[in-house]
Amino acid sequence: RLRRGLHKSRQAFVGQLNAAVSEFRDAEDEEFWERIEEILISSDVGVNTTAKLVAELEQRALERNITSGRELRELMVDITARMLEGDVSLDLSHRPSVILMVGVNGTGKTTTIGKLARYLPGEVMFAAADTFRAAAIEQLQLWGERTGAPVIARERGADAAAVVYDAVDAARREGTDVLIIDTAGRLHTKVNLMAELEKVRRVIERQMPGAPHEVLLTVDATTGQNGLRQARLFKESVGVTGVVLTKLDGTARGGIALAIADEVGVPIKLISVGEKVEDLHPFDARQFAEALFG
Ligand code: GDP
Repeated sequence: RLRRGLHKSRQAFVGQLNAAVSEFRDAEDEEFWERIEEILISSDVGVNTTAKLVAELEQRALERNITSGRELRELMVDITARMLEGDVSLDLSHRPSVILMVGVNGTGKTTTIGKLARYLPGEVMFAAADTFRAAAIEQLQLWGERTGAPVIARERGADAAAVVYDAVDAARREGTDVLIIDTAGRLHTKVNLMAELEKVRRVIERQMPGAPHEVLLTVDATTGQNGLRQARLFKESVGVTGVVLTKLDGTARGGIALAIADEVGVPIKLISVGEKVEDLHPFDARQFAEALFG
């Protein structure tokens, strides 16, 4: 299922890279490395990460005297897997463990919250703190009905911080295991959005020291370098403990995962390869690298 989900990424990488890598004979062939660089950059790996990756590949290929495409591919999987490795665990040791979900509208935040209700052990509660869009509140309520998770909400236009206050209160009272907070993601008012998220965060911190225990950012893998910019912005403004990389089923350029892990320095903790509940997977660096490179 995961391999199928990553089908497009694999096609692009595997198709082009296989063709290039199979022609590899000599680590001193500069043109060869330039071609690899081009393919990686066009797969959203990002300029800096690509440079780093290719430099390491070249150096190790020379050191080990590698002369076949097969060995080079193994080396590539190895180096990428190490680049992608990070702490993928979720801190669920509190009651409630509070997960703040952030991300730009349309990146799959609400869908991910719904999936998490099934994915995570224990009882889950939702907080509808995207009070800007009526549809966002309704969508979360729908996921609540579908998964049995209670939803704490107020009317559209209410203060997001007030909803969050209610929710933390309710989750404590009811002994809920995990409280997942949906937040606004209207990026065209970037400054306002970040101010709102910071306020929400402060309210949680004041009410429950140590919380939020996770701040998960949804990044749409089909948006390429925009996703990279979003990861930087959210990390700097609200702090991000992990990325959920979504819509990997819809892109031929899963290389964004490498750029996020390497350049932004936030671990990818979960990936999503479809709209269904079972399409959410824990991120496995080696498996991902192998899926990308065949
Ligand atoms: P939000 O605005 O960030 O809350 O985004 P939504 O959760 O509403 O998702 C936006 C759209 O993307 C919806 O149509 C979802 O069904 C779809 N979506 C979310 N995750 C995935 C995924 O992993 N793969 C695909 N193909 N679609 C997804």
